[in-house]
Amino acid sequence: MSQNYYQKEIETMSAEEMKKLQSEKLVKQVKHVYENVPYYRNLMDEKGVKPEDIKGIDDLHKLPFLTKADLRDAYPYGLLAKPLEDCVRIHSTSGTTGKRVVAFYTQNDVDLWEDCCARAITTAGGTKKDVCQVAYGYGLFTGGMGLHGGSHKIGCLTLPMSSGNTERQIQFMTDLGATILCCTPSYAAYIGESLKEQGYKPEDIPLKAGIFGAEPWTEEMRKGIEKTLGIKAYDIYGLTETTGPGVAFECSEQTGMHVNEDHFYAEIIDPDTGEVLPEGSKGELVFTSLDKEAFPLLRYRTRDICVLSRKKCSCGRTLVKMAKPMGRTDDMLIIRGVNVFPSQIETVLLNEGYEPNYQIVVDRVNNNDTFEVNVEMTAEKFTDKLSDIIAMEKSLANAMKVMLGINPSVHLVAPKSIARSEGKAVRVIDKRKLI
Ligand code: ADP
Ligand code: ZN
Repeated sequence: MSQNYYQKEIETMSAEEMKKLQSEKLVKQVKHVYENVPYYRNLMDEKGVKPEDIKGIDDLHKLPFLTKADLRDAYPYGLLAKPLEDCVRIHSTSGTTGKRVVAFYTQNDVDLWEDCCARAITTAGGTKKDVCQVAYGYGLFTGGMGLHGGSHKIGCLTLPMSSGNTERQIQFMTDLGATILCCTPSYAAYIGESLKEQGYKPEDIPLKAGIFGAEPWTEEMRKGIEKTLGIKAYDIYGLTETTGPGVAFECSEQTGMHVNEDHFYAEIIDPDTGEVLPEGSKGELVFTSLDKEAFPLLRYRTRDICVLSRKKCSCGRTLVKMAKPMGRTDDMLIIRGVNVFPSQIETVLLNEGYEPNYQIVVDRVNNNDTFEVNVEMTAEKFTDKLSDIIAMEKSLANAMKVMLGINPSVHLVAPKSIARSEGKAVRVIDKRKLI
């Protein structure tokens, strides 16, 4: 049975009503966690906070933070708030930053999560008439199962492809007329590239929309994917610790993602001091899950850097919007003392007419950081004239210097020599950590 997943009464709720709803949920949630999670109870006791001190959202700042280190300390069951027999699912992070964490779900938690994904697909124009190709990885990673569940809830005809086997993705997409594609943006770019190589023009491709997330991607990359696939590309955000994709989703305005605030309360903090920053400030995103039963994290520090905004949105939703995360505190590279995000490099490449196929290699030689960027030559720009290659490398290095303030050494490499990603792209090789 399908249902309408534009939940107007929630998605356009006034700020005061939303705060009231969140406050009621928070009071209950803090009690639930305090009573059932000794690990967090200890953190609260150490801070001298009792559940009675939390009367609403305005008291949230009194609660201690949880970090990824806490999740690892408490692995596997230490943050579980329900008996294991009430849980029906486990997922795990994709381990982008090294160590995995596991999260537990009751049936209610799965339902809530799928509702969030259904909102995202609906907002991208999905209805029961659509064919939704889910090419995020299935399994422990949350991407596949999350969007799959959302697609089912709406009643879309769901193609549970998982990631990989690009030939088959293309065959099913074209034979079965997929209208919505869900995958990582780097995989969407790869599928687009493969379609182009096979001679497909955007108008030959049945897709109308894409829901791409799970990794940072730039506005320039969005434009590229939209052009190749002939679609509108929507961003989606989430993390395993809070459920998975669908914590926030993009609307037609494409200026940030609406947070499903009725389920997740978002704060921006100064990552150094922990101080809560006012709306519009850039800082670390912190989430409190207001409804989750099995794995309800309070004030979880995501390490994602972004900005929240309550500016009026043309879609009519009042849900707070988060900007595209610029990267994580832990994938920000510090090279010769300068902060460098891979997304900045990507912006330069796309502005200069290259594809987002690159790899950053950082090393330390004689106490000095070396900074190399390998960039794939595109078919259009291809030349084997050495002087032209050197000039192109120099011009790219200059453009990066303007963006970053430091000078990389740029190497143009042969088309197709950098491995394509079917999941989250690996952009950085930091050899300094291995020393
Ligand atoms: P891992 O931490 O191993 O990558 P997850 O698969 O749970 O585990 O990934 C969650 C993280 O992925 C987020 O914290 C964020 O850094 C990144 N992410 C998810 N969606 C987006 C998005 N739309 N834009 C940028 N980054 C995203
Ligand atoms: Zn909107």
